[in-house]
Amino acid sequence: MSENPCFTCVGTPCCRRLPLERIKVRTRSDLKSLLEFLRHRWFELGLKDDGTWMLFYARSCQNLEADTGLCAVHGTPQQPWICRSYPSYHCWYERVFAGEQSLEFIRFDLRRLETLCQMVSYDEDTGEIAGVPSWEEMIQVFSNLPLDDPASRALQGIKKKFSFSLPRPRNEGQEQLFKFRRQFFGVRIIEGRREWITEVETYGEEIS
Ligand code: SF4
Ligand code: SF4
Repeated sequence: MSENPCFTCVGTPCCRRLPLERIKVRTRSDLKSLLEFLRHRWFELGLKDDGTWMLFYARSCQNLEADTGLCAVHGTPQQPWICRSYPSYHCWYERVFAGEQSLEFIRFDLRRLETLCQMVSYDEDTGEIAGVPSWEEMIQVFSNLPLDDPASRALQGIKKKFSFSLPRPRNEGQEQLFKFRRQFFGVRIIEGRREWITEVETYGEEIS
């Protein structure tokens, strides 16, 4: 087998953003609600070519060595199973986050999403999305709008927290997801009886 692609991966994007949620968008208000994330530091959104939105928390894993860009717990029991089992030879992260604009995934910051909101048409009665630009048109339009750095937002802003709930894990595999999430800076897991909450810290501008 050829050399592990992780050893030459530029920027190790899988270790610098935590996937938080998959979001279905059907209405004007669903789409507008995504804007709120992008007004806050460290949130990043992406749209897959199957229409699924993905929300990421763009901070690094605490095991990522700043000087080498390598995983300090690679191959040890401390490395989360999610990382150990990830199919790096067919890496989705590298395809969509490293290098040129991907043809299967479009990344969004606030400016790109506001632009998309203007390109979409809605049913005036129900607010449901009635028409969207073609995938090719979106690729073309957004390729000309450079992305911001999610870490540069709201530098004078106030600290806030966002929470994301999942059912309490019922098996080792589900617990591993939370082990993985705990590795990232700014993340806290609150273990409830029915739900475990992933709480992430962020900063946003105060609305006057
Ligand atoms: S899993 Fe993918 S994104 Fe992560 S270091 Fe390996 S090749 Fe890069
Ligand atoms: S533990 Fe996983 S996410 Fe963290 S640096 Fe290692 S491979 Fe990357």
